[in-house]
Amino acid sequence: MYKIPMKIVKDIQKQQSTSKISDKEAEEAIKTILEWMGEDPNREGLLETPKRVIKAFKEYFKGYSQDPNLVLEKTFGDVEGYSDMVVQKNISIQSHCEHHMAPIIGKAHVAYIPNQRVVGLSKIARVVEIFSKRLQTQERLTVQIAKTLMESLDAKGVAVTIDSTHHCMTMRGIKKEQATTVTNFYLGQFKDDLSYQNRYLRFIAK
Ligand SMILES: [Zn+2]
Repeated sequence: MYKIPMKIVKDIQKQQSTSKISDKEAEEAIKTILEWMGEDPNREGLLETPKRVIKAFKEYFKGYSQDPNLVLEKTFGDVEGYSDMVVQKNISIQSHCEHHMAPIIGKAHVAYIPNQRVVGLSKIARVVEIFSKRLQTQERLTVQIAKTLMESLDAKGVAVTIDSTHHCMTMRGIKKEQATTVTNFYLGQFKDDLSYQNRYLRFIAK
C-alpha cells in the first residue's frame, strides 16, 4: 500500500499555525501598507479597514489551523461491497498564490477507489477546502489533496484535477485574462492503469 513520504508529512505539518503574532500587530501591519500606498489610514472610511482585512484574512487562511487528516478519520464499511471509483466534480477552489498572495479561483475534481471503506462525500470537499485556505501553488495543492486522501483512506487509487484562474496572471504581470491552468495528479490504480485514468477523465469531462 502507498506510504506517504516523510517530507510531505513534514511540509503539511509545517503549514499548521503556531503564530505568536496578535491580531493587533497584524492590523498595524495593514495600517503601514495603507500609508505606504499613499492613503490616510485615519480617515473615516479606513478607520476599521485593518480590522476588517485581518478578519477576512482569517477566513482566507483558516486552513492553517485545520488538520485534513482529522476530517477523514470517520469512514463507513457498510456499502454492499462498492469498489468502483467515487468521483466528485466541480468542487470550488478559492485559494491564494504564495508568490503574490493573489486569488486562485477555480474548481477541483477528485476521485478515489475505496479499499473496503468509503468516506462521507462532504469530507472530500472539506479536504480540498482546508488545503485551499493556505498560501499555495496549484501544483502543491493538487498533490497535497491526492496524497492526504490516499494515505488517510488507505485508498487503492486517487486522482485530482484542478482547473483555475490565477489573479496574479490576469490582473497584473502578463495580464492574460483568459488563461486557465490545469494540473493533474494520479496515485495507485489511477497511475498504474490507464483504463482507470481514461474512465476518470471521461467522468470529469463536461
Ligand atoms: Zn502568483
